[in-house]
Amino acid sequence: MGNASSIEPTKTIFLDIDGKKEKIMFSRHCGSRDIHDLIAHAAGVSRYAEISLKDSAGAFVSLNPTMPINTQSSPYKVTSKEPSPTTGDGEVFTQVLSQVASQFNNHFSKEGVFKVEEMKTDIATRLSALERKMELEGLKAVEIEKCKRDISDIKDQIWNAQKKFVDFNRLSRDTHIMNRKQTLSTYRKYTLSQETIEYLKQPTFDIWHWEPNEMLSLLEHMFHELGLVAEFNINPITLKRFFLCVQENYRNNPFHNFRHCFCVTQMMYGMIHLCHLWEVMTREDLGILMTACVCHDLDHPGYNNTYQINARTELAIRYNDISPLENHHCAVAFKILSNPECNIFANVDKDTFKRIRAGITMLILATDMARHGEIMDNFKMKLEPEFDYKNKDSLDTLKMVLIKCCDISNEVRPMEVSEPWVDCLLEEYFNQSDREKMEGLPVAPFMDRDKVTKPTAQIGFIKFVLIPMFETVAKLFPVIDSTMVEPLRIARDRYEDMKEKNSMPPPPSQSNKKKTVTEK
Ligand code: 5GP
Ligand code: MN
Repeated sequence: MGNASSIEPTKTIFLDIDGKKEKIMFSRHCGSRDIHDLIAHAAGVSRYAEISLKDSAGAFVSLNPTMPINTQSSPYKVTSKEPSPTTGDGEVFTQVLSQVASQFNNHFSKEGVFKVEEMKTDIATRLSALERKMELEGLKAVEIEKCKRDISDIKDQIWNAQKKFVDFNRLSRDTHIMNRKQTLSTYRKYTLSQETIEYLKQPTFDIWHWEPNEMLSLLEHMFHELGLVAEFNINPITLKRFFLCVQENYRNNPFHNFRHCFCVTQMMYGMIHLCHLWEVMTREDLGILMTACVCHDLDHPGYNNTYQINARTELAIRYNDISPLENHHCAVAFKILSNPECNIFANVDKDTFKRIRAGITMLILATDMARHGEIMDNFKMKLEPEFDYKNKDSLDTLKMVLIKCCDISNEVRPMEVSEPWVDCLLEEYFNQSDREKMEGLPVAPFMDRDKVTKPTAQIGFIKFVLIPMFETVAKLFPVIDSTMVEPLRIARDRYEDMKEKNSMPPPPSQSNKKKTVTEK
């Protein structure tokens, strides 16, 4: 997108319209049709008129943004011809169609798409004018049929374009509401081995082993296996399209990327199986948990809420500094679901959709770590004297704690799996702190490359956030102690060792040793 502060280069063209001197100016973003309309306006003819330009040597000049510039003393001669109002051969229609097509191409050839809404309105206006014209001028039946077919084609094109590129009120990036038949066909069906199918239910699952397409298949498998496809009567193709669209709307951040989405969802899947959650909640609840995991960091920009708020970004302004990122992830999720082709909840009734929407929103918003204390305190209260699964408030709080557990669960995984995530997180943190330093914004010490190391980043987080949270959940589901808390204790001890080793003076080098021996 063009930088709003840069000055648009404009081009000036001089015209001779029946002896009258005119000039037109246009920016490089104008298309041929815009220039045509500008000249038509200067010539006082309709935008449907045929216009031609000739230079002083009598050569025709092509009418497009790259047309050669001229001078006031050698203007291009303009000739124009209005279309005949009684063309019986569909000429008017062809002209309108070609205008529509050119309008389309102009908008879609530039960096992605912009002004989609404007374009739609413009095309809709032209189409209805055309439809009126058809009625008024009484085209032959066969022509009318052709017109109708073409209009319907155009409408399809608009619909497809709209699905592909929705202007999400010009937030930092467009939400891609896609209809990618080609991509779907390249999205192979992977046959999962029985071993993989079982392994997928474990927190020890190696999440680095899989290509993006394989992760899509694994996600699909989880939804089928949990009975969610049956529960919500999801069209399996819609499910594929939903995951593809979700994947497209995760950015390639070092940490907050599609693989993180996959990890969080896989850990939820693992917890559902470990804790037999289907015994204490409905399939609908499981669907809400899983879908919230899939969507929970959609379109994360790689800079946290503190940055958003301090830098007064568009997101912070939009959401009044209240969990701007989580609000955004959730809004993008429902933007995706608003596309019928990706709406995995298309076949549920209104009330069910309402509950699902409220549930997913509640869970995504609960992933803001600024609310950690509040949510944990709430959960601990629900545990006394006894947790009541029939109570909606209690169940909601449990679901919030579960998504929080999965969201920050990397250290529950075996060391070989978890450790690379710390590097990813630190890379994202350092990106942010470097930018904050450059922009003169406050820098959090835990993000500062001069202050933080891998063990220091992890020890406090494991001791004061992760272990207490998983221990609390283990009160409700004892299996969590051996499967999740124990690996956390191991990780804590390992990072403490690492810290100790880092703080020891380095062993003397070989050359120093030799020197010492000789000196003695
Ligand atoms: P998010 O929803 O952003 O993925 O997760 C919440 C936040 O928890 C992360 O942005 C990050 O600040 C923190 N977090 C998650 N995992 C870890 C971890 O392994 N170590 C540390 N130090 N922080 C983490
Ligand atoms: Mn997350």
